[in-house]
Amino acid sequence: MESNNTGVRVIIVGAGFAGLTAAIECHRQGHDVEIYEKFAELKQLGDIISFGQNAGRIFHRWSNGSVTERMDPLSIKNKGFNIHKYDGEFIINQTHPKPPKESPIINGHRGELHAVVFNYAKDELAIPIHLDSRVKEYFETELETGIVLESGEKISGDVVLGADGVRSKARELVLGYEDKPKSSGYAVWRTWFDSKDMLADPETAHFCNQGDTFQGWIGQDVHFLFSTIKNGSDCCWVLTHRDLADIDESWQFPGHLPDVLELLKDWDPMCTKIVSKTPPELLVDWKLVYRDPLPTWVSTGRRIALVGDAAHPFLPTSAQGATQAMEDGVTIAICLRKAAEKAEAEAKSQDAITAFQEIRYERVKAVQKTGETTRDMWHKTDWVAVKTNPDLVKFPREEWIHGHDAEKHAEEVFDEVVKGLREKARI
Ligand SMILES: Cc1cc2nc3c(=O)[nH]c(=O)nc-3n(C[C@H](O)[C@H](O)[C@H](O)COP(=O)(O)OP(=O)(O)OC[C@H]3O[C@@H](n4cnc5c(N)ncnc54)[C@H](O)[C@@H]3O)c2cc1C
Repeated sequence: MESNNTGVRVIIVGAGFAGLTAAIECHRQGHDVEIYEKFAELKQLGDIISFGQNAGRIFHRWSNGSVTERMDPLSIKNKGFNIHKYDGEFIINQTHPKPPKESPIINGHRGELHAVVFNYAKDELAIPIHLDSRVKEYFETELETGIVLESGEKISGDVVLGADGVRSKARELVLGYEDKPKSSGYAVWRTWFDSKDMLADPETAHFCNQGDTFQGWIGQDVHFLFSTIKNGSDCCWVLTHRDLADIDESWQFPGHLPDVLELLKDWDPMCTKIVSKTPPELLVDWKLVYRDPLPTWVSTGRRIALVGDAAHPFLPTSAQGATQAMEDGVTIAICLRKAAEKAEAEAKSQDAITAFQEIRYERVKAVQKTGETTRDMWHKTDWVAVKTNPDLVKFPREEWIHGHDAEKHAEEVFDEVVKGLREKARI
């Protein structure tokens, strides 16, 4: 599906999943869209990232499933999630029915999946993506908005989407102040590495030589998740633990294996075996920061909107951060098209921006909360109760999150939302 040209000029800052999805969806809805990104070249950074069915549904609509076809070989295919108590006691194998091909679950390497989406936007849809273009300022008048690059170049449009991640500059403009992240009291050690040393050890080879596997160990204030990927050829683990140290949001903060091994010394010895196979230089220490929900994602002139992590960072235990960033892009592209189709000329793009926030805000807040509830549910597990009901430690997968169709929803509610906002403005 591609719509007629709407003439709406959209400038997007940031080519992460939020920016790329917003650009692809704006292209589908007929807007003129360009991306400005500070990185100079595409690098495959990061490790494991999760996309729920509510993201799979979005990916699948791009060129009739050709993007999800490319992602499929990069995505984990396991036979369920084996959940253990921290001492090694096996609790339950959590399985799910295979999702339909129209809404797949995709879990894989962030850099590899990002490259698929980036190349699709750039090469197949020919969306202009300006690399090495760091945005240093945003501006907004009655009639237009835009950005100023570090080079001094000024670019104007009808709407700017700040998809510039957790350290967003656009957020400062929207809020009128710099909002500092707080420590969540937790950090994760995370890594991704080749399986060769795991395969060479008879005690760990079984995780890798029978396709993909997914294991979890749960203890007081700590959980350890370990996956094998791409038919067992790669390994990745993420360990969430209490950490009150200075905070940093960088993905490249180096971790120290002896710290991890010390924390796991009373745990199932299998955890130590797995961690010991990690090349030390590939260990990342990522402090999990927290932000109270922002009071608004929209600038005072209603021409600049924040999307993705710039508007709402997520904890990894929600497994929804990238997916919610994608839902933002779908929603805003539809709001802009529906507003452009309206007969009256008044404040079209501004209406679209306000409606976007209205449609998304409460849903995002509720999904964000699941990151805390799942973490706390695991970290405070009542093991006596689990003896009679092992389901208590299953990872929640809720229909209101995964069954959501952001495109259909925005199409259905837009008119009603705009009507409500106008009535509110008249009061
Ligand atoms: C390098 C990197 C590695 C990551 N690895 C993982 C991972 O392993 N697992 C995981 O779950 N999540 C990871 N994330 C975060 C994850 O991608 C996001 O939480 C989620 O996908 C939402 O994406 P986003 O587009 O809102 O933000 P991001 O993915 O952070 O993208 C923001 C983009 O904006 C660009 N940008 C920022 N400021 C400017 C500026 N002034 N001018 C121009 N461009 C700017 C950044 O370079 C970046 O490309 C990573 C993010 C990055 C940037």
